[in-house]
Amino acid sequence: MYKVRQWSVTHSRKLEALYRNFEPVLIRLHPLFKTLGYGRLEKPVRVAEKAIKGLMFDCRMCGKCALGATGMSCPMNCPKSIRNGPCGGVRLNGHCEVKPDMRCVWVDAWRGSQQMRDSQAIHQVQIPVNNLLRGSSSWLRVVRDDHTARDSETAQ
Ligand code: SF4
Repeated sequence: MYKVRQWSVTHSRKLEALYRNFEPVLIRLHPLFKTLGYGRLEKPVRVAEKAIKGLMFDCRMCGKCALGATGMSCPMNCPKSIRNGPCGGVRLNGHCEVKPDMRCVWVDAWRGSQQMRDSQAIHQVQIPVNNLLRGSSSWLRVVRDDHTARDSETAQ
C-alpha cells in the first residue's frame, strides 16, 4: 500500500529504533529456532514477515533485506529493481521515470535515511539480489548469519 509505504519512510527513525530492539530478541531465540528446526520455521515466519512487511513497506520478499540502509524505502519497489540507486531517469519532481505517479524509491530512501540514526548506511553498496533467496525470510537469515559469523570467529 503506497500510503503506508510513505508513512514508513516518514517514520523511518522510529522504525529503525523498533528494529534495533527486535533484532537482538530474534538473535537470542537462535537456540529455540535451532531446536525447532529452521526448515520447519521457514514457512510460518515467512508468512508473518510477508504480512507485516508487505503492509508496511510493500515488501517483495527478496530474502536479503536492505531497509536499514535505504531509509525504510524498499528498493525492490523500483520498477528496475535497482539496489543501488537512483537511476538517471528520476523526474524533476522526484518521481519515477517508469511510473510517473510514484515517487522514486531512491528519493524516498534518501529522505528516510537522513532521519535515521545510521544516516550514513545509505552509502553502503548493496550486493545484487540472490534469486535463490527470493521468497525466504530475511528475519531468519539475520539470525543464521549472526550465528554463522560467531561460530567462525570461535573456530579461529
Ligand atoms: S529489501 Fe527485500 S526483504 Fe526488505 S522490504 Fe524490500 S523486498 Fe522485503
